Amino acid sequence: MRIHAILTGRVQIKEAQIEGRGHGLWRQIQPIVSSEWAEWVPVYAWAIEHPEGVIVVDTGSGAHLKSLPRWHPYFQLAVRFDIEPEQEVGPQLRSLGIGERDVKTVVLTHLHIDHDGGLAHFPHSRICVDSGEIARAAGIAGAIRGYLPSRWPQWFDPQPFPWQNLHCGPFARSARITQAGDVVAVPTPGHTPDHVSILINHGDQQVMLAGDASYLEEAMLSGTIDGVSPDESVSKATLTDIRALCAARPTIYLPTHDPRSAERLAARRTVAAGRRGERALTAS
Ligand SMILES: [Zn+2]
Repeated sequence: MRIHAILTGRVQIKEAQIEGRGHGLWRQIQPIVSSEWAEWVPVYAWAIEHPEGVIVVDTGSGAHLKSLPRWHPYFQLAVRFDIEPEQEVGPQLRSLGIGERDVKTVVLTHLHIDHDGGLAHFPHSRICVDSGEIARAAGIAGAIRGYLPSRWPQWFDPQPFPWQNLHCGPFARSARITQAGDVVAVPTPGHTPDHVSILINHGDQQVMLAGDASYLEEAMLSGTIDGVSPDESVSKATLTDIRALCAARPTIYLPTHDPRSAERLAARRTVAAGRRGERALTAS
């Protein structure tokens, strides 16, 4: 099994979105009202070359995101995209020798615009999204919440995850993405209430494609909540679960926007190994 990190341009958001400031509604409006932009961060999509067919996890951003609806304060004041059409997931998969018909399944961790922005490249794939996430993102109410359902392809008809009450480490439910059971979805609510992450059994390690469960590995380790999660306690509980998962088994933790995700995947660097390396660097 090969896993590819596909960089679909970059996004710039506020510091107060990457690291929540304050609590409650105050925390949630800071990403809009704050004037402090963070550094540009990557937007990764992931492709898993699996014997059962290629699985794409999140579709990244699209060049269409350089123009956003002006009526929405978040789109107008809190987010900027930098991406050209050739940086979208479709052309990049083709340059890896993966055509659109090779992609059997597309899994979306959630439906934020930098995760579903490349959907148009997958008209022939089975697409899995949590049903709660679909309900929240659809229609005018979804648009007010900051989703862009008006840009979903006309053929977009996602399937819900086949959830089973099968424990997967600290997670009470899981959903098989492959028949072999080596790629599963687990619920990681927080950033959105029905956010999921993908776990891949990868030899003696596991890879966690964490979406926006946290923006950075350090934020997961320190239990730092972002500025947009609706419920702080739900997010904190999920980050606690992820830490338990990483403690139980060597895990390569790959958030969508972590500038170090691609190098961690290439070096197969697990959470614990990364921490040991940092301690050694501090000691030297
Ligand atoms: Zn998101």
